Amino acid sequence: MQLFNKLKESFIKTKENFSNKLKSIFAFFTKVDEDFLNKLEESLIMSDVSVPAASKIREKLREKCKYDNIQSPDEILNILKNIIISIINCEIKNNFAQKNIILVAGINGVGKTTTIGKLANYYKNYKNQEHKILIAAADTFRAAAAEQLELWAERAECEIVKKSEGSDPGAVVYEALEKLKRENFDFLICDTAGRLHNKSNLMAELSKINRIIDKNIDKNIKKFIFLVLDASTGQNMINQVEEFSKILNINGLIITKLDGTAKGGAIISIREKFPNIPIKYIGIGEQIEDLSEFDSRQFSDSIISKQ
Ligand code: GDP
Ligand code: MG
Repeated sequence: MQLFNKLKESFIKTKENFSNKLKSIFAFFTKVDEDFLNKLEESLIMSDVSVPAASKIREKLREKCKYDNIQSPDEILNILKNIIISIINCEIKNNFAQKNIILVAGINGVGKTTTIGKLANYYKNYKNQEHKILIAAADTFRAAAAEQLELWAERAECEIVKKSEGSDPGAVVYEALEKLKRENFDFLICDTAGRLHNKSNLMAELSKINRIIDKNIDKNIKKFIFLVLDASTGQNMINQVEEFSKILNINGLIITKLDGTAKGGAIISIREKFPNIPIKYIGIGEQIEDLSEFDSRQFSDSIISKQ
């Protein structure tokens, strides 16, 4: 299936969620008045858009309609799309260096390991240039984690650094970083654990891994930290960004599982709350090619319709 169609299909549940509510508002539409704006705001909130984001959209719409004397529902839908784009639009370029290390963080089950497989495959031919990818199995908390990553390494045809269960994840990352320096790899992508004995252990371990990278990184290597979030958890994603931001300087978000959820509207909440943390990629399935750069216009166009 072509990527565009695949994307459209992935957003279908979110689209239905939005569109069913919009449809009922527009069925009674006569003009943009307080009643209309209230109903619209309410329906956005019911579609996983946070209260601050929904009220921002409402105010922007009110202003726009006041000045431009908008009349038809079609015009309003277009304006609504553009307002949403203005909120969710973000820089998706990464400005990669010759060598790059990407640390992938996130709580258990959000899709880190799967996303690393997809990213390895994606960066292999990034911008039509061949790249050599190395991945590091720094989730040493469960034996199955390294095995799962190894499968992805096979699928993406890239090399992996792994150690036995329970070994020090910092040591795995250190070894992989040395390999990145020594050999002709372009990208090193590091998996991490999403669950340890408790949350403070997890955060302490991530900080330690991050410090090891900073201490051993070369001038010609650029570090990126991506936080993976599961779209089906809706606005819980906001708490996760808050928690991980306390210890890591997050360069970008990856929102997974958009294919299976109606809660895609939470993307608007995240962008409103964290305007300085761009969404880089989205996950739209369990296969290796089910990753896409985040496209704000495409997302907005896909979810807003009055049909
Ligand atoms: P981790 O614990 O963060 O490493 O998460 P995993 O990579 O093990 O993924 C957890 C589950 O989510 C697996 O069953 C994956 O197949 C599934 N998954 C990951 N990304 C996506 C996605 O974009 N769409 C769907 N439908 N499932 C996904
Ligand atoms: Mg994992």
